[in-house]
Amino acid sequence: EVKKQGKNGFRFFSPELDAQLLEKIELEGDLRKAVERGELVLYYQPQFRAGDQQLVGVEALTRWKHPTRGLLSPGVFIPIAEETGMIYELGTWVMLEACRQMREWQAAGGPLIPVSVNLSTQQFHQPNLAGYIRRILGESGLEAQYLELEITESMMMDADVSTGTLHDLNEIGVRISLDDFGTGYSSLNYLKLFPIHKLKIDRSFIRDITFNDDDKAIVSTIISMAQHLNMEVIAEGIETKEQLDILLDKNCKEIQGYYFSKPLPADEVRASFFMQHRHAN
Ligand code: C2E
Ligand code: MG
Ligand code: MG
Ligand code: MG
Repeated sequence: EVKKQGKNGFRFFSPELDAQLLEKIELEGDLRKAVERGELVLYYQPQFRAGDQQLVGVEALTRWKHPTRGLLSPGVFIPIAEETGMIYELGTWVMLEACRQMREWQAAGGPLIPVSVNLSTQQFHQPNLAGYIRRILGESGLEAQYLELEITESMMMDADVSTGTLHDLNEIGVRISLDDFGTGYSSLNYLKLFPIHKLKIDRSFIRDITFNDDDKAIVSTIISMAQHLNMEVIAEGIETKEQLDILLDKNCKEIQGYYFSKPLPADEVRASFFMQHRHAN
């Protein structure tokens, strides 16, 4: 491993780097056992209609209850899972659990809203993704319209392959959203060609939107482009009332962010957001 050491050049190892590497190797080993030991858990972040703050969806976000390190965030272990190929096993657990949970909520009288699941590049490019998704839906009993797959712009670089995959997914009836929109390299032409239901405006454009006119212009443009292309649009990472007011002013229809709710464990989502939907029996 080579680590850049500023303008003085390179060093081949250092105590810190050794420690980092060791930690990574250790986490890798732990992650192999995490799925079967039931250490992974899904949190769900609610998504709301901006106008009346009605719940319109939830995004499943994976956490790892590590036996000694506590609750680990996906930024720590998803890259390891991707590098080692464990992403398939982890991804299957996530997909099944998210669908199963949504089905359970619906059966208990919860709202009929979709659950969004993030896909890694390898998952998106696995052969016969649509067949795989169909099996997941069959196994969990969830109807296709209540599953939304989140992909990113970079996954669509190979336009021919992506078009085929997206059309197959469209055919089985799941929804597709384009996550972190604006940070990748989408050709606007692809947006026209691909069957994508929703753009998720990346939170880096929202963060400074109250004082950065460039961000404001970009967000405004994405929103109106989505409308013209007949796509839904959701803004990620809203933390303040001021940010919300600007988005409302720009006619953004859906929002997700700490201002409304952090990602929550399943039982808290149910307790906080589903009560008004409970069946009378
Ligand atoms: P993402 O898909 O863009 O998910 C949104 C991330 O932004 C989440 O971080 C969420 O907690 C965070 N967030 C939401 N609202 C706010 C806000 O108002 N302020 C700030 N500062 N952050 C906010 P999280 O849960 O740490 O996930 C990070 C990324 O890890 C996700 O980004 C997603 O790309 C990836 N990820 C999470 N779960 C999975 C999974 O099951 N599979 C795969 N392949 N990737 C996953
Ligand atoms: Mg996402
Ligand atoms: Mg994502
Ligand atoms: Mg995102």
